[in-house]
Amino acid sequence: MLVLRGSVVAVLCFLVSTAAAQDLLKSQPPLWAEKPDVAAFEKVENERLSAAQRTIDAIVAVKGPWTIENTLGPYDEASRQLNAAIYFARLMQAVHPNADYRDHATAMVTKASAANTALSLNRDVYHALASLDLSAADVATRYYVQRQLLEFRLAGVDKDDATRARLKQLNDQLTEEQSQFERNISDDQRSIDVANSSELEGLPQDYIDRHKPGADGKIHLSTNYPDFFPVESFAKSDDLRRRLYLAFSNRAYPKNSDVLRNMMQTRYKIATLLGYSSWADYNAADKMIRTGQNIADFIQQVDATSRPDAKREFAMLLDEKQKIHAGAKEIWDYEGSYYSELVRRSQYGFDSQSVRPYLPYAKVKQGILDTASKLFQVSFRQEQNAPAWDAMVETWDVIDHGKAIGRFYLDMHPRPGKFTHAEMSPVLDGIRGKQLPEAILICNFPAPTASDPGLMEYGDVQTFFHEFGHLMHWILGGQQQWAGVSGITMESDFVEAPSQMLEELIRSPQVLASFAHHYQTGEPIPADLVARMNRASAFGRAGWVSRQNCYTAISFDVYKAKPQDVDLDAVYHDDASRYSLSSTSPDTHPYDAFGHLAGYSSAYYTYLWDKVIAEDFFAQFDPHNPLAGDTPMRYRRLVLEPGGSESANDLVKNFLGREQNTTAFEHWMGAEFQESSASAK
Ligand SMILES: [Zn+2]
Repeated sequence: MLVLRGSVVAVLCFLVSTAAAQDLLKSQPPLWAEKPDVAAFEKVENERLSAAQRTIDAIVAVKGPWTIENTLGPYDEASRQLNAAIYFARLMQAVHPNADYRDHATAMVTKASAANTALSLNRDVYHALASLDLSAADVATRYYVQRQLLEFRLAGVDKDDATRARLKQLNDQLTEEQSQFERNISDDQRSIDVANSSELEGLPQDYIDRHKPGADGKIHLSTNYPDFFPVESFAKSDDLRRRLYLAFSNRAYPKNSDVLRNMMQTRYKIATLLGYSSWADYNAADKMIRTGQNIADFIQQVDATSRPDAKREFAMLLDEKQKIHAGAKEIWDYEGSYYSELVRRSQYGFDSQSVRPYLPYAKVKQGILDTASKLFQVSFRQEQNAPAWDAMVETWDVIDHGKAIGRFYLDMHPRPGKFTHAEMSPVLDGIRGKQLPEAILICNFPAPTASDPGLMEYGDVQTFFHEFGHLMHWILGGQQQWAGVSGITMESDFVEAPSQMLEELIRSPQVLASFAHHYQTGEPIPADLVARMNRASAFGRAGWVSRQNCYTAISFDVYKAKPQDVDLDAVYHDDASRYSLSSTSPDTHPYDAFGHLAGYSSAYYTYLWDKVIAEDFFAQFDPHNPLAGDTPMRYRRLVLEPGGSESANDLVKNFLGREQNTTAFEHWMGAEFQESSASAK
């Protein structure tokens, strides 16, 4: 029945809005069409904020009866304007090449977020929404209003004037602290000096070619991902790996320690003003997981589930290390990637370097577009000559059976001052027939040059799939009646499920062979190489889960108690020794560059929580060809297309026919021990 409902909705959209949607693409120019300088950027933003305020004033002016037309419609319009202002400001803060522009963007994030907070505490608007007669409204509209009322109450709308004023002030302060935390990470790019290229032994030749000595005769390696990760995986020199790891793990330290402590204080004050004993508890209240205690239980459950396999993996790492360092008893944090690589070579006959020539950036990008196109039955069309803040940025349209349903931007390579991690950021909410959803991928993959095709690591390709999963969720879920239920507006601890689901496609030999062609010979990746890679890449999953669980515990422990009782170094070292089997280097303070402590805060558990769901989802696809059969379209209709118009628990149950469980996750985690490793040689 739900399948039927999905298809009826889709057919209706098609009939009603074909012409309108084509016009939408024309009437909705790409983000950078006007090439806004700082003044123009601020003008656009201020106009959006004013438009939102006028709409809110109009709702307040209604003296009842409050209707969907005079209240919910304007409320959603105000949200659309505010969201657009916040998305744009956050984007410019993350990507604009000019530091002064980024400063103005940061100030605008503060201003726009303040307007959003003011709305969340606006009693008149709350009263109007709570008074709506919804008896004739559809299910999605009723669900929307119910969720909004919950969010209003969690914001403190029903508190007295003094408390609301205090909450407003604290939330504004928090926005500034979050921006500061993130900016300090982006701005603190560190580097180490390497005396000569012999120290780079073990690294791929194209990496060595990219890192020629500077005028001072030394080679400079930065903490940017394309510099950092290859060193940790391949450099033979323990000293080189250790030095770069130390630089990486001390980014934004100590500058961010005070900012983090301020964020913890501010959040604790907000939570306690609202009647919760901790930020972790408060922050869980509108999510799938519901309570802080459930987060604590989940961490223990993951630990119990992953530990046996993690121990087996750790023993194999130690064996490998002992071949070089006889009698070694521990694996340091800067050694795990390197020895994992050696285990994959010695035990699984797989050298991850051997796959890179098949993964030049341009081929991978096209391959991911083609794969998503087949899976979700959409197509992609690049907008030529669309201007952007950097020449490398691309603009693409998403077409569904001839009709434009969204637009996205790709900003995929590192630049000084740019956001250093990988993320999908919303640009515009999708509203059926009114506004196409837009989003951007901000990544840091090696850039192709005239002499170098930008060969990617397997892990980079997985990241690309992951972020593209978010993007498709935003676009396909962005065909709603209301901005407030569009895209990824559901409980936020569901949003990493579709992204991690899409990552799994990299395991499919058919999918990989369709685009992974040798950059020199054009030969498709050999099937036996993919088979060995799949067996080898299963090695290390349990260790990865342990490390993720360690970060999950840090995110929870930082926010679960009174901030004055939290010693950041003690939390980091205790959780690392409790959940991760490798040893922690002294003098490292990675929490200051753990950007998720600003956004996800106590909810970093989301990744593992959703990994469980993602594996359960992926187990429903045809293991021989995940693109085949009706599962991909069932998935699109039941999980992605509803956006936030249903609860995430319902999305899961609608697709699986039951609640999620850990069976598929456990199978995924221990796959290298279930399939005979002997046969891999
Ligand atoms: Zn993600």
